[in-house]
Amino acid sequence: MERNGWEGGRLLINLAAIAENYARLCARVSPAECGAAVKANAYGLGLKEVSQTLYEAGCRTFFVAHLAEGVDLRRLVGEDSRIFVLHGPPPGTADACLTHTLLPVLNSLHQVQEWQALAHIQGRALAAALQVDSGMSRFGLTETEVDYLATHPQSLTGIEVALVMSHLGCADTPDHPLNRHQFSTFTKLKQRLPAAPASLAASSGIFLGPEWHFDLVRPGAALYGIPPTAGQPNPMHPTIRLQARVIQTRMVPAGASVGYRAAFTAQQPTPVALLGIGYGDGFPRRLGQKGFVVCTDWPDIKLPIIGRISMDSLAVDLTPLAATGAALPQPGAMFDLIGPHIPLDEVACLADTISYELLTDLGARYHRLHYDPRKG
Ligand SMILES: *Cc1c(COP(=O)(O)O)cnc(C)c1O
Repeated sequence: MERNGWEGGRLLINLAAIAENYARLCARVSPAECGAAVKANAYGLGLKEVSQTLYEAGCRTFFVAHLAEGVDLRRLVGEDSRIFVLHGPPPGTADACLTHTLLPVLNSLHQVQEWQALAHIQGRALAAALQVDSGMSRFGLTETEVDYLATHPQSLTGIEVALVMSHLGCADTPDHPLNRHQFSTFTKLKQRLPAAPASLAASSGIFLGPEWHFDLVRPGAALYGIPPTAGQPNPMHPTIRLQARVIQTRMVPAGASVGYRAAFTAQQPTPVALLGIGYGDGFPRRLGQKGFVVCTDWPDIKLPIIGRISMDSLAVDLTPLAATGAALPQPGAMFDLIGPHIPLDEVACLADTISYELLTDLGARYHRLHYDPRKG
């Protein structure tokens, strides 16, 4: 059934901007290879459209978190691409990686042993990545476990090490001392493992400088327009625009309250627009009384969000618009909640979160419109 356009809002996703961001990162890290993290439905932007755009842009190495995501991705990109499953296969499912041509990231001795056992059954070497923990205590082999592998060479027979990798915990803060510590731990541990291409940097790590690029980088956020370095201008193209439709406008008399818990009370007669997006669409409830939106026809005039954000709607004070003498927006008019005049990271900051969470939260309830200005 045709239903696009009948939702309360739309999420515009600019695929050309994602391709452009990919090209920029490739140029920055060359001769290292630039892969792409497309976990969590490509950070909420649509696994199919995003991964195919990246593949067309030349990306041949993809990272997902879960085996299930890898299975989905395998059907979407060419056979000449590698798909690494960051969490490795859940216990007892290693053979699914073979069935779907996925490369597991082995994070523990247990995962190493299961992969080795599978290689033994198959009677051939099987490729995988080894992840070491260089200091953020998330996934990966500890120094002791790396020592064990190094001193028991048979513990890796049958495993073709396609990549040795680790992940940085503070890369968006270049001065943080953990960065250097992780760098030296990574280089040290890598030397004890079989010689293989190395990867340390995700988006923020890329911007720490060339020595952090090793053989392969794994950006996600920067591809989608999230600024890689805290407090620095964003070198990436924005890729999304979130718009909500006006359902109704009303004049709220002085003294009347707006929304749940009567959190806002009009001090004077106040023109208000009710927009068809709320926290049920993944728009942060924390932005009640804090955030702002702009009318697409008047992008320079910030209109405050008033009262609590409801599940399906939010209220906006149109007073600043009325003050210009402009005609008030009619039902059906579109407002920007995130876009050229309201950057994603500003909205995330107002909501006390990070752009990553805001993006991945933007639910499937909008009319999602993937467009590519290059293709007309
Ligand atoms: C998510 C993730 C990435 C991508 O990180 P960004 O900060 O989005 O670039 C890279 N590597 C690993 C291990 C990850 O978990």
